[in-house]
Amino acid sequence: MSLDNRPRYTGGCQCGAVRFRVEGALANVSICHCRMCQKAFGNFYAPLATVPEGGLEWSRGEPGWWRSSNHVERGFCARCGTPLAFRAPDGIGLAIGAFDHPEEVAPTIQWGVEAKLPYVDALSRLPAEATEADMESAPYLADLVSFQHPDHDTETWPPENGT
Ligand SMILES: [Zn+2]
Ligand SMILES: [Zn+2]
Repeated sequence: MSLDNRPRYTGGCQCGAVRFRVEGALANVSICHCRMCQKAFGNFYAPLATVPEGGLEWSRGEPGWWRSSNHVERGFCARCGTPLAFRAPDGIGLAIGAFDHPEEVAPTIQWGVEAKLPYVDALSRLPAEATEADMESAPYLADLVSFQHPDHDTETWPPENGT
């Protein structure tokens, strides 16, 4: 929240070349099952939240845009490929997973359900395991160095001192 109690959100792509800031309430917090959203996200469905008009600022870099239809453009990081945005005549949606705190952006509706993949409803019933539960991966995790941008704004990225 900002000082005047308007909700504030930040986020960006995996590499940190593109960052955004949103001020104001999100709308249409959704997942879309349509085939174009599956392709654009390389995923089972697209999680998107519409930003308030005038409430979006690209605070570092700008997305690349690709026109997926006569009505819609898809925004993505041209450096790391993270899907970031959906731009239509009636507004811009941002990818929920790109927010610094996606846990605060819970979907309230599903769209395009005629294209829903047949196994999506069963995903939550799959066998489930925490990362640390896999002991074979423990040595691999111990020396893992992440180059992912952290979940908050940064003055400079990547860090200049290399740490
Ligand atoms: Zn990136
Ligand atoms: Zn869609």
